[in-house]
Amino acid sequence: MAGAIITGSSRGIGRAVARRFADDGYDVIINYRNNAEMATSVAETIDRETSREARVVKADVSDPGDAEALITTSVEELGSIDHLVNNAGIDQHVYTEQLPPTDFDRILDVNVNGAFNVTKAALSYLRESAVPEGPSITNISSILAYTGAPIECHYAASKAGLLGLTKSHARDFAPTIRVNAVAPGHIETDMTADRTPAEANRERQQIPLGRFGQPEDIADAVAYLRDAGFVTGETLNVNGGELMR
Ligand code: NAP
Repeated sequence: MAGAIITGSSRGIGRAVARRFADDGYDVIINYRNNAEMATSVAETIDRETSREARVVKADVSDPGDAEALITTSVEELGSIDHLVNNAGIDQHVYTEQLPPTDFDRILDVNVNGAFNVTKAALSYLRESAVPEGPSITNISSILAYTGAPIECHYAASKAGLLGLTKSHARDFAPTIRVNAVAPGHIETDMTADRTPAEANRERQQIPLGRFGQPEDIADAVAYLRDAGFVTGETLNVNGGELMR
């Protein structure tokens, strides 16, 4: 039986990725930081509607102790860890002049240190994985890693940092564990729900495919990378053509 951990899977992209893994035959860990009710509901839906099992584990990925506890509990629940998706992330919109250094640090702590903490804790278990496609780590970056963003410099910096982490770990952990990233464009989740209709309209016009992405669009990309046995150190851009060059 194969198992996967998806951090930040109580809602949004993480929830869709967890569901996709369960649909594809993996038992999954639903991780959250605050929303116990939503995490439980995701797990109950997976248990009810798929043939696989989901277990809920609360952990703040930015805390190395929590990250280790997340992995220990996951191994107890799943038996093995075969795939890790570092999806948990936070965003904040503030101009640099008004941005307190503690807020800058918090975004980096969750988005970059969080992926590092969980990866480090999971490493020895991933190395033992015997799944035919080979174990994998997928980090969820962002289109803003390439373009930057005027009122979220810390978020863009964190997502660019994740791309460096991805390539470094792809080299470090080869040939056993493949490590890749997905860089989503605008995906409709709580994280992007604060746009006014006018702002959303302006953003949509920048997307050649004429729509915002759905969490399932990112789940498709993560599933591809999970199974892509000759792909490591790569970033899959999923943005409706917004970044086309
Ligand atoms: P979301 O709807 O806001 O969900 C965020 C998830 O992360 C929630 O499950 C949340 O748990 C969890 N989380 C936050 N901080 C955490 C922490 N310290 N420890 C553990 N879990 C934590 O966000 P989303 O839009 O699905 O985004 C998922 C990932 O995709 C993020 O890394 C984000 O940066 C990236 N991304 C999103 C977009 C987009 O357009 N939506 C674009 C590019 C990249 P709780 O429910 O308990 O708070």
